[in-house]
Amino acid sequence: MQPSLDVRNPATNEVIGTIKNTTPDDVDMCVSAAQEILPVWEKTAASKRAVLFVNAASLIRSRVDGLAALLTTEQGKPLREARDEILGSAHVFEYYASVCGSIPGDARDLPGYGYLNVVRKPLGVCAAIIPWNMPVMIFAWKAGAALACGNAVLAKPSKTAPLTIIKIAEALHEGGFPKEALQIVTGSGEQTGSALITHPDVRHISFTGSIVSGKAVSVLAAPHLKKLTLELGGNDSFIVTRTADIEAAVKAAVRNRFYNCGQVCTSAKRILVDEHIAEDFVHKAEVMLSGYVVGNGLEKVNMGPLNNANQLALIEAFVEGVLDRDEAQLVYGGKRLDMPGNFYAPTLLKNVSPLAVSEEIFGPVMSVIPFGSADEALDIANSTMYGLGSSVWTSEINTARRFAEGLRCGVVWVNKHLTLPPEMPFGGVGNSGFGRENGRDFVYEYTEPKSILFG
Ligand code: NAD
Repeated sequence: MQPSLDVRNPATNEVIGTIKNTTPDDVDMCVSAAQEILPVWEKTAASKRAVLFVNAASLIRSRVDGLAALLTTEQGKPLREARDEILGSAHVFEYYASVCGSIPGDARDLPGYGYLNVVRKPLGVCAAIIPWNMPVMIFAWKAGAALACGNAVLAKPSKTAPLTIIKIAEALHEGGFPKEALQIVTGSGEQTGSALITHPDVRHISFTGSIVSGKAVSVLAAPHLKKLTLELGGNDSFIVTRTADIEAAVKAAVRNRFYNCGQVCTSAKRILVDEHIAEDFVHKAEVMLSGYVVGNGLEKVNMGPLNNANQLALIEAFVEGVLDRDEAQLVYGGKRLDMPGNFYAPTLLKNVSPLAVSEEIFGPVMSVIPFGSADEALDIANSTMYGLGSSVWTSEINTARRFAEGLRCGVVWVNKHLTLPPEMPFGGVGNSGFGRENGRDFVYEYTEPKSILFG
């Protein structure tokens, strides 16, 4: 295995940094250090933990310009989106400051048995395995929840977007979190990720990434009977009914689909539009896209490059394949851009066959699928193995309720898409994974109940 790994700027392909490919022996030392701090850390008063979160959030806010530029340089997203992500992570830490003092318990008289006291205890050392698409936000969700509950956390960023997370962790340490309670362990999934997952003293793994990697992680974790939270891919439907405000729906669909160059787990990947308004919808989307500027995220652009060459190749092959097989019609884009980085044109496809998009398309391709009835829309929306998020666009409450009830997924938005406040539990059903981040449900992921029955 290589001792170090280069990090490249996806807009230029230049090397911008190098990270250590942490070995299993080094992982073992990190876990031992985390184990040593745990007895002190788990007894730290919640009010003190809250202050540390607030300190760190304030440092992150004060450094937003530098952090956002670094995130754009390693991940590719436009500076405006990078700023949103950095400030969003500060907001997540403030959320955990506000809830870490309210970890629930139970205390009740059980007539005939005694008096029951249920306390929720931290799990110990937790591993957070993070993808490259929203690295800082996903790190904040995982580290915030784990630390709020009194765990130590070892976070492994993706090898293509680790640098900003390292800086965010520095802010948490400067804010007062013990270095041993929060450690960043850089490296590849095969070496460092596997070492974390199989280490006997790591008791919980929170993994966000692809379904293929999620399955590999489950196999590695199973012999050790580890607790797992899996946040995997999504193939969200964005359903536009005849009663929708079409202008608002088109704007939201385009903004959501091309946000972060289409590399968001809950991106609006399948746009289902009532057949009576589908042509109008496609025309309006095309007009919007024709004004899109694509380029280096540090400049004034609407969309940056894909994060890595592998993603670019996958998107190129997908578009070529569906067009060759007549499974869609090209309206806009549909090609790699002649620039040094991983650039692909924002692409609009219409009359897309639902089967052609049964797999997640993690890139800047908007696939519009016309539907004839609400039942048909629900069938198409629920026809994949994914179940992360979906949205319905309508001005009728009964239509909203019908879709909200019928969609098989972890999150349903009505006249909205992609908004993920930390107060809201987030996660998927089916092959999109299990367990929830944020909301109040983080407690169930990062603590275990201890029942004490007094006679
Ligand atoms: P990935 O699965 O390739 O990698 C994710 C992380 O897992 C990286 O840190 C990687 O090094 C590590 N990893 C990979 N294989 C491993 C193994 N065998 N053992 C241990 N660690 C391993 O995913 P990616 O390409 O970085 O991210 C894109 C995917 O993530 C998409 O499918 C997207 O939908 C999904 N995603 C899901 C959510 C969600 O909350 N559901 C959020 C963001 C991204």
